[in-house]
Amino acid sequence: MPKKNKSIKYYLMVLGCQMNEADAQRVSTVLEKNNCILTMNEPDADLIAVVACSVRQSAIDRVYGKIRIWQKIKKKKELITVLTGCVLPSDRKKLSPFFDYVLDITAISQLPQLLWQKPIDRQGANEYLEIEPLLSSDFQVYIPIMTGCNNFCTYCAVPHTRGREKSRASKQIIQEIKKYIQQGYKEITLLGQNVNSYGLDQKKELNFVQLLKKIDLITGDFWLRFMTSHPKDLSPELIHFIGHSKHLCPNLHLPIQSGDDQVLKKMNRQYTVKKYLSLIKKVRQSNPNLSVSTDTIVGFPGETKKQFQNTVKTYRQAKFDMAYIARYSPRPGTVAALWADDVTKQEKRSRELRLSNVVEKAGLKFNQRFIGQQVKTLIKNCKKIDSHQYKLIGKSAHDKTVKTIGPKKLVGQFVDIQIVEATPFGLSGKLKAV
Ligand code: SF4
Repeated sequence: MPKKNKSIKYYLMVLGCQMNEADAQRVSTVLEKNNCILTMNEPDADLIAVVACSVRQSAIDRVYGKIRIWQKIKKKKELITVLTGCVLPSDRKKLSPFFDYVLDITAISQLPQLLWQKPIDRQGANEYLEIEPLLSSDFQVYIPIMTGCNNFCTYCAVPHTRGREKSRASKQIIQEIKKYIQQGYKEITLLGQNVNSYGLDQKKELNFVQLLKKIDLITGDFWLRFMTSHPKDLSPELIHFIGHSKHLCPNLHLPIQSGDDQVLKKMNRQYTVKKYLSLIKKVRQSNPNLSVSTDTIVGFPGETKKQFQNTVKTYRQAKFDMAYIARYSPRPGTVAALWADDVTKQEKRSRELRLSNVVEKAGLKFNQRFIGQQVKTLIKNCKKIDSHQYKLIGKSAHDKTVKTIGPKKLVGQFVDIQIVEATPFGLSGKLKAV
């Protein structure tokens, strides 16, 4: 390692979902409190921390791909590698020999003790989500409100990696959100594996809708989002709130996973297609302007052509305007991993494409409604065109990607864009004078 007093350059490899991103921000806090500085240039790093994800095999394969490179670097210079994140016991066992340190994300505050024999921050060790995250953005923030999951969908690694549901104190969450809004943050996203069960694991705690209502009362110009909501316990109170909130964005992400009852049962999803479609109908009655997106797994063990066809039919009925479609891959230790992964890779790919086609059509139709309208957009990114102009890329309240041309200074700001074009994936238009 570098000599005492010299900063240690660290590189972060973050895989997986927004929860892992929020975890990585806490890894940064722990490291930067201990004389480390972030480098975006991997070969420069003295320390590489991987916040890994066992939810998909492809994410684990990416870690294996990097290990070979880091082993070569280690032959030339001193390099410390750390593995943490959302990792299944079997992946952890296989990956451990290639890392210098492996630890649970919940134990991340012990890292300085492991690396430099520093005293452990006890509070952080027990409640890692209370570690203040080091944010790279000054306009959007993920707020984990709980961790873990009690649902045990048969394909899913999360209950095995993150354990049972544990909610954070609402007082802490609300205080944190107020602070960010005062600092000018524009987009607050509440995170949890199933936000609907927020608070139920604690005595005398608010439930999810009560928490949302309190956040909705905070004054300021901000957007509120949450993910993810499980269809089995999407309550009438939440459906009502979706149509009557001041700050909540008109976008509901409601994972369906399959549009066939037998497959849903085998997945242990605890709802039927009929129940799911009736929920969608109710949320759209509550907010007719709502965008609805979903997650689906294609090629689940034993999924027949007819069962997949039922999913296509359900997609047409539900009219999802966005979807994240994953090809099934067995996760060791889950119930589904005991079943034959019997849908060929080619067939999975073809099912993914067929569903994507259905979503693209519905997405285009949904997005076309915005043509001619002025759409409030949070600019999140930009690409240089010339010395004055940038291609600005943002998100609308409906979570649609919106593109326009304008000055770089608008990144992180709300702007109004007159929409002139819609595609299945987003919108583009002219910036209203700023
Ligand atoms: S609800 Fe199911 S899919 Fe979602 S995290 Fe829990 S077990 Fe996994």
